[in-house]
Amino acid sequence: MLKLYNTLTRKKEDFKPIKPGEAGMYCCGPTVYNYAHIGNLRAYIFEDILRRVLEFNEFDVKQVMNITDVGHLASEADEGEDKLMKALAREGKKPSLESMKELARKYEAAFKRDIHMLNIPEPSIWCRATEHVKEMIELIKRIDKNSYAYKTSGGLVFDTSKFKHYADLGKLKLDDLKAGARIKLDREKKNPSDFALWITNQPNHLMQWESTFGRGFPGWHIECSAMSIKYLGEQFDIHCGGIDHIPIHHTNEIAQSEAATGKHPWVKYWLHGEFLVMPHGKMSKSSGEFLTLQVLMDKGYEPLVYRYFCLGAHYRQQLTFSFEGLDAAKAAYEKLKSRVIELKQKGEKGIVDDVGYLSKFSEAINDDLNTPKALAVMWDMLKDEDVGNKLSLLLEFDRVLGLGLNEMKKEEFKVPKEVTVLLKKRDDARKAKDWKLSDKIRDEIKAKGFSVLDTHDGQKVEKA
Ligand code: AMP
Ligand code: ZN
Repeated sequence: MLKLYNTLTRKKEDFKPIKPGEAGMYCCGPTVYNYAHIGNLRAYIFEDILRRVLEFNEFDVKQVMNITDVGHLASEADEGEDKLMKALAREGKKPSLESMKELARKYEAAFKRDIHMLNIPEPSIWCRATEHVKEMIELIKRIDKNSYAYKTSGGLVFDTSKFKHYADLGKLKLDDLKAGARIKLDREKKNPSDFALWITNQPNHLMQWESTFGRGFPGWHIECSAMSIKYLGEQFDIHCGGIDHIPIHHTNEIAQSEAATGKHPWVKYWLHGEFLVMPHGKMSKSSGEFLTLQVLMDKGYEPLVYRYFCLGAHYRQQLTFSFEGLDAAKAAYEKLKSRVIELKQKGEKGIVDDVGYLSKFSEAINDDLNTPKALAVMWDMLKDEDVGNKLSLLLEFDRVLGLGLNEMKKEEFKVPKEVTVLLKKRDDARKAKDWKLSDKIRDEIKAKGFSVLDTHDGQKVEKA
């Protein structure tokens, strides 16, 4: 039985979907105003593992992911400029609708490239916020009709005091919020936690739509409520994202959705991934520690080495990034690769004798996606001489791990002409039993990046 830790109850629970055999899952996607950093990518790797584990358990998964291309303001709490507008200025682009769309599409494409390189299959449905404003307006109308909204000079605001489950997901202490105020209290807001559904009176904002609440644009949270309801229904199974989304974004999504539909609970299971942090704190886009997958690749790491690095920690554990840690993941990944290639070359003996490793592996991943334990089971299996079907087991494990084991093959390389000439000279030297010369030529070959092995069939050359 698959068990998942549900943020709503703070407990591991058996996963029982609304419709037997099916799982509807919504993942908060990227705000496309910059490249994704490797912290963001950790969140998508965790969500990918979740989807793969559901599929491993034979659920038919419908995964929906949004692309935020409007409405996400610099602060999560309705303040500051739209992140996309800020990005236009950062890139020295003329502010226009066209340039904003161009910028959003550029970072959306970069994001899709990143997840492809990390072996994360695309969701069943992608949805862009700007293409669902009609659905957002309809949902806001329902919220308004049910008396959960009020007007201010800045637009239409959600009244969180009217929604009795508001504090549930984040276990929020609303009184503390009142005292300290997590945001500068907008004087027109009735409660510090109230948030914008629809923003008006911002003439400089490039994207504006007509609505019954005035010309404006949606608040950030409403997009996820509107799009998830559109594609997954008014109640669905799983919603996930990073832990930073618990106190504001997901809390507000629940409030809006349940206020509109009157159905509780809107989502049965909430899963949140812990952060990737730098040794001295948060990864930040403004400090020099903004690492992208491309930066790692430029430093010579394969994208799947980063995936392996992430799988080495449980998704609910904070993970500190370091190049030493990444090097250790690289060494393990390379070792795995050479074992896989070796097993492929040898061929399977055809003995199906997994000595219980498949069930140990399932137990690990079904225990709230315990990937570090699943990797340990994999290594134990590889070491076990009694297992005759290692390759087929590995490929089965890889349905969840997604480390590209099926595609692993011996790297093909061309031996340059000068090395072929040296090999011939060395062969002659060996025939003449001139071992000194033979060793000297071996060093020359090594200096050119190749190593020579002397086998029964003669010299074999490999990349050093
Ligand atoms: P954003 O594009 O900023 O909306 O973030 C995309 C996803 O990355 C969200 O699910 C965030 O919760 C998550 N996230 C942001 N920073 C980190 C981090 N340092 N480590 C892990 N996840 C993160
Ligand atoms: Zn969201």
